[in-house]
Amino acid sequence: MNALSLASQPEPHEAGYSRQRAWVEVDTDAIARNAATLATGLAPGCQLMAVVKADGYGHGAVPVARAALAGGASSFGVATLAEGVQLRRAGITAPVLVLGNLIHPDELRSCLRWQLMPTLSGMREALLCQNLAAAAGRPIGVHLKLDTGMTRLGVDWQEGPRLVAAIAELADVQLLGVYSHLANADAAPADDDSITPCQVQRFASVLAALRQQQLDAGCRHLANSAATLRGPDFHYDMVRVGLALYGHSPALHLAAASALQPAMQLRARVSLIRSVPAGIGVSYGHRFRTSRPSRLAVVSIGYADGVPRQLSGQIAVLHRGRRLPQVGAITMDQLVLDATDAPDLDVGEVVTLLGQDGDQQITPADWSQRCQTIPWEILCGFKHRLPRLPLGAH
Ligand SMILES: *Cc1c(COP(=O)(O)O)cnc(C)c1O
Repeated sequence: MNALSLASQPEPHEAGYSRQRAWVEVDTDAIARNAATLATGLAPGCQLMAVVKADGYGHGAVPVARAALAGGASSFGVATLAEGVQLRRAGITAPVLVLGNLIHPDELRSCLRWQLMPTLSGMREALLCQNLAAAAGRPIGVHLKLDTGMTRLGVDWQEGPRLVAAIAELADVQLLGVYSHLANADAAPADDDSITPCQVQRFASVLAALRQQQLDAGCRHLANSAATLRGPDFHYDMVRVGLALYGHSPALHLAAASALQPAMQLRARVSLIRSVPAGIGVSYGHRFRTSRPSRLAVVSIGYADGVPRQLSGQIAVLHRGRRLPQVGAITMDQLVLDATDAPDLDVGEVVTLLGQDGDQQITPADWSQRCQTIPWEILCGFKHRLPRLPLGAH
């Protein structure tokens, strides 16, 4: 067989997960259940937007989107044009809002073509939309973003009513929604958060002004996961839920608020078992030294897969309901476990780095607390070198 014909044959390691070294399992049923749980907790008439940016927070945007729809989500939020097009190419027809700012006329033209709603932060983009929609002979639906205190995207909230009035004058631009984004919604009650009430009050004052001027705001939305879990005062017509959809709580004090189920399991396989004496240095820099005759297990996953190197020596993995400590520096492609107390752990066996095994669980928050980041960054840090394995009916 020559190299060309080989290229079209699947390699054994591609044929099934029984030969993968490491992978991300995605329980799409958990996504659907989380969507249903979240939808049940919404104010009457409020819609659920599933935020599937960053490849569905690392879970795979398309399977997540399908499962979220099945669970009751009615629209999607993405960050980039390409993420929106990916959903359309997969045959998903529900409304999609691009949360990032699109600046080039070609990007806005693509929105029109693929029926994606761009977010407008000012009149410049509104006029671009008008021009290209008029040229195409069909209207473009948009959402307007107000900056109520996040100080990132959006037009200053005080400009809101004027801008809505100006957009209403554009024949081919349909204002389908007005929204804002909270900077501090995950604050604990003890934090004495003054930012959120201020943002809510500003948002409400713009909406009141629009009502007074009989301007239609379309769908009004404000809440991310944290604000959604905080309660119906934040829900308006729609909530934009990311982290909670994937089964994680945006803050400890909100964890009890709903029965969410983590959808991701990160698993990897043992590639080598070593027996070493006491006093042996392990991995780069010998940051760990065995204190007893030890059985070490090398696992085929590393920081190039998205396991943060800062977690070296600070995590454990699960195997048959036990916790095995990771020792020494996490390297690009491998990490080492102390399996001295797990004599049954063998080459080829699977360990769980994140997720559930028996009654034990390791969450992205367990990791993020140890390396000064947040669960969001852990989840979307998993690289495409790790195959995604969707499990479930969706
Ligand atoms: C990412 C994002 C969300 C979702 O945030 P979570 O905290 O993950 O729920 C909501 N709204 C906007 C504008 C976002 O960019």
